[in-house]
Amino acid sequence: MTFQEKIKEYPVTLPASHGPLLKSVQDWAFSNGLTMLTDDPATAVHAPVTLHPSPFPRSVFDESIEAQRGFNTLYSKISSFTNNNWLDKIIDKLAPSDPDFTGKLWKTHKLSLVDGKPIQPLTLGLFRSDYMIDQKDGNLTPKQVEFNTVSVSFGGLTSKVADLHRYLAATGAYGDDAKFDLDDIPRSNSISELANGLAQAHKAYVAQNGAQKSKTAVLAVVEKHEKNAIDQRHLEYQLWDNHGIVTHRVSMLEATKVTEIRDLDGVSRLYYNDAEVSVVYFREGYSPDHFPTQAHWDARLYLEKNRAIKCPSVYTQLAGAKKVQQILTDKSELLKFVSEKDIGPLVNTFVEILPLGEDSEGGKRAEQLARTEPERFVLKPQREGGGNNIYKQDIPGFLEKLPKNEWSAYILMELINPPVIQNHILRKGELFTGDTLSELGVFGTVLWNSENGEILHNDTTGWLLRTKLESSNEGGVAAGFGCIDGVYLVD
Ligand code: ADP
Ligand code: MG
Repeated sequence: MTFQEKIKEYPVTLPASHGPLLKSVQDWAFSNGLTMLTDDPATAVHAPVTLHPSPFPRSVFDESIEAQRGFNTLYSKISSFTNNNWLDKIIDKLAPSDPDFTGKLWKTHKLSLVDGKPIQPLTLGLFRSDYMIDQKDGNLTPKQVEFNTVSVSFGGLTSKVADLHRYLAATGAYGDDAKFDLDDIPRSNSISELANGLAQAHKAYVAQNGAQKSKTAVLAVVEKHEKNAIDQRHLEYQLWDNHGIVTHRVSMLEATKVTEIRDLDGVSRLYYNDAEVSVVYFREGYSPDHFPTQAHWDARLYLEKNRAIKCPSVYTQLAGAKKVQQILTDKSELLKFVSEKDIGPLVNTFVEILPLGEDSEGGKRAEQLARTEPERFVLKPQREGGGNNIYKQDIPGFLEKLPKNEWSAYILMELINPPVIQNHILRKGELFTGDTLSELGVFGTVLWNSENGEILHNDTTGWLLRTKLESSNEGGVAAGFGCIDGVYLVD
């Protein structure tokens, strides 16, 4: 059956009485930690999910998965102090147009260097490349929405959703008429594989520093009232279960109080009580909201400027700027990092992205298109976490009010128009049925030496499908617009 034919079978007809199906989903979710916390930190709800996995073209899925190791390599090179510090010039130019966030991250990075070098050259990236299906000329291909280098989320919960869908299909919970072949509902092993990435970095630290494995730990830096804490916990528990590695959770600000830096043989090492910290894993610090005071910025610098391996370093976080993504669509820039023979799988996923506030040809084209054809574009600032973009008809008015010196903090990106699929979404026990759009995320883990660009470990580590009702422009699950889905692969 083709993808187009399969879509017509959706939304899948629910059993005449679908109460038991919804109950199955909820019980499974509560039993397996497919949950999110609420405003009341003592209460959890099941994470919003689709009832059925969305049809997804196998070729698009395979292409996205296959591109990941190349993207891991690319971003590790961009975040290295090779190639004449290529990233420095870009961020130097970008920082003044976004002084409060990009500018302060940039300053933090520079303050963290000792004699122009990081104290710890090894860097860990838990990355996620996001795609939507493009359907131009009847050809289905993955197009990249963005590349995330910091605090990528849902690696925990997505593994659970794929397993939930497989369980529902296997037990006949979908009803007699709904036929799903389990072979076409793949699992996402992101929990174990992302945890393995953290473990690889931990082991590299232990070997590098002659530390004792039993007296080292990972430090997870997390928001104080993180509703998505269970997603993070899955990685923590797996690190313990599979690798015997303990994780301590602290907020950025707390970290300065509950940890200390000890100078050993002239090297600043980070300690949490008696445990030497091997890896600092940041799930906080990707948004300006996480830095309400200078003390927060000081805390970020404190955590950067020591021997522990950072996941990610500030420099790597900056490499995930949307500005960088835009510049990489220029082939001559991409070729500085990837050889001609290897760029195919990467550039095939690119759509047009243009700079704003530049006197260049691209800059002029962007300014004109933003006025004449805004319905084809989305305008993006240098932000993460959803809810920051300006869409279509809102673009011209927004730019009119924006001071010219702030224009270069934005990029103009061609909109991808993925297929619309009708599906059922279950959110806090309530069922919604309607037109949906999906975004595939592919996880990647890479451990490298930022001084010489050498890669020690590079892996594709599972995937995520987020689905939103078409009526909302953004797909943030934690931000409240979307849900976690699975894929039903069709040829
Ligand atoms: P953030 O860093 O806030 O996650 P994104 O670049 O991922 O920013 O944009 C947020 C959301 O906006 C995406 O999840 C997607 O739903 C939508 N979006 C972004 N870029 C595009 C695009 N080029 N075409 C269609 N939708 C897009
Ligand atoms: Mg995104």
